[in-house]
Amino acid sequence: MLDFSLTDEQRQLQQLARDFTRKEIIPIASEYDQREELPWQVVEKAHEVGLLNVGVPEHAGGLGLGMFEEALIGEEIAYGCMGIFTVLMASELGITPILVGGTEEQQKRFLGPLVERPALAAFGLSEPGNGSDAAAMQTTAVLDGDEWVINGTKMWISNGGIADITVVFATTDRSGGYKATVALVVPKDAPGLSYNKIKHKMGQRASLTSELVFENVRVPRDHQLGGLGDGFRIAMKTLDKTRVPVAAGSVGVARRALDESVKYAKERETFGKPITTYQAIQFKLAEMLMGIETGRLMTWKAAWLVDTGKPHGTEAAIAKAYCSEMAFDAANEAIQIHGGYGYVGEYPVEKLLRDVKLNQIYEGTNEIQRLVIARSILK
Ligand SMILES: Cc1cc2nc3c(=O)[nH]c(=O)nc-3n(C[C@H](O)[C@H](O)[C@H](O)COP(=O)(O)OP(=O)(O)OC[C@H]3O[C@@H](n4cnc5c(N)ncnc54)[C@H](O)[C@@H]3O)c2cc1C
Repeated sequence: MLDFSLTDEQRQLQQLARDFTRKEIIPIASEYDQREELPWQVVEKAHEVGLLNVGVPEHAGGLGLGMFEEALIGEEIAYGCMGIFTVLMASELGITPILVGGTEEQQKRFLGPLVERPALAAFGLSEPGNGSDAAAMQTTAVLDGDEWVINGTKMWISNGGIADITVVFATTDRSGGYKATVALVVPKDAPGLSYNKIKHKMGQRASLTSELVFENVRVPRDHQLGGLGDGFRIAMKTLDKTRVPVAAGSVGVARRALDESVKYAKERETFGKPITTYQAIQFKLAEMLMGIETGRLMTWKAAWLVDTGKPHGTEAAIAKAYCSEMAFDAANEAIQIHGGYGYVGEYPVEKLLRDVKLNQIYEGTNEIQRLVIARSILK
């Protein structure tokens, strides 16, 4: 029989993340959004309480939590701030290729330090000239003795410049397509690697997004994950998993949109009555809850497929596309319910909309998710 209840451990984890969000994230989210600054103290505190880099396996010293647990945490953190969610979850995104393609020894070497102290990872796939068509990457990796030499530019990299390690995808032959790609673990301070912070983002401004410029950056050959030609496969397998937390985060944003809407609608009166008495408002609230419940079910199913080792690419794509659009609509309706007040920063709902727009774009746009879904239908 299907069982949708959480175990005691999962409930405790969810409560931990909920309390953490209420105490450490909600009070500072707006300030860091305005300052366009990553709140490092939140990373430190997340590490302290055990909410950082939770995917690091036990053999590397971590908690080895599954995707379902990541989804539970992600929903709670995004309830407080989708930008801070991205700081924490982009680190799990950076860890995942090492889980997918790394040996046990590499996992210990690269992931162990990420749990010993507050530290982040990053995932470097997108480039200025190509995001959706990732296999067309132009960043090159050339073997020189026992070292890879990397040249090129990666674009839009979350945690870029602050992450201790970035998994960088590069091509060994620009005309070789996806079969000529490698995945390399690059330390933050590798000589020849420089960072440019991307400013004036529409939302998620508490997360750090950077351009990474590689000029003859050298990494030892044993920083290579998997075999020659495995880079693209590792990147795609990673995204098939990490789209689940993006879906979970979207559910968190939608839940916040609903809670803020209910709170405001109960207080706001027009024509002598609270606006909750109007069916037009009630229907918006009902639509939000319908989306949240549907989205969470799909997210949990995709997480369960990941954790049980079953095929999950299509379900993760459905969850990511559905939840990010559902959450965008919820945030939009939350602004509508707040009327003019929804349009200014005094209430949190305009930030929800700005933040959650990105969920339709990163980790593969929703058009790309639809291609993934359609491919599974037509194959
Ligand atoms: C704030 C932020 C953080 C990010 N973090 C990371 C990160 O940590 N690591 C990383 O590697 N990347 C990251 N990204 C990059 C992100 O994943 C890409 O922006 C995204 O994949 C889209 O790529 P693009 O911007 O090049 O758009 P393009 O690929 O140029 O697409 C432009 C438009 O065309 C559509 N399109 C493209 N091809 C098709 C097609 N075949 N069929 C139908 N429609 C199509 C797209 O859906 C989109 O609407 C981040 C981006 C942002 C903005």
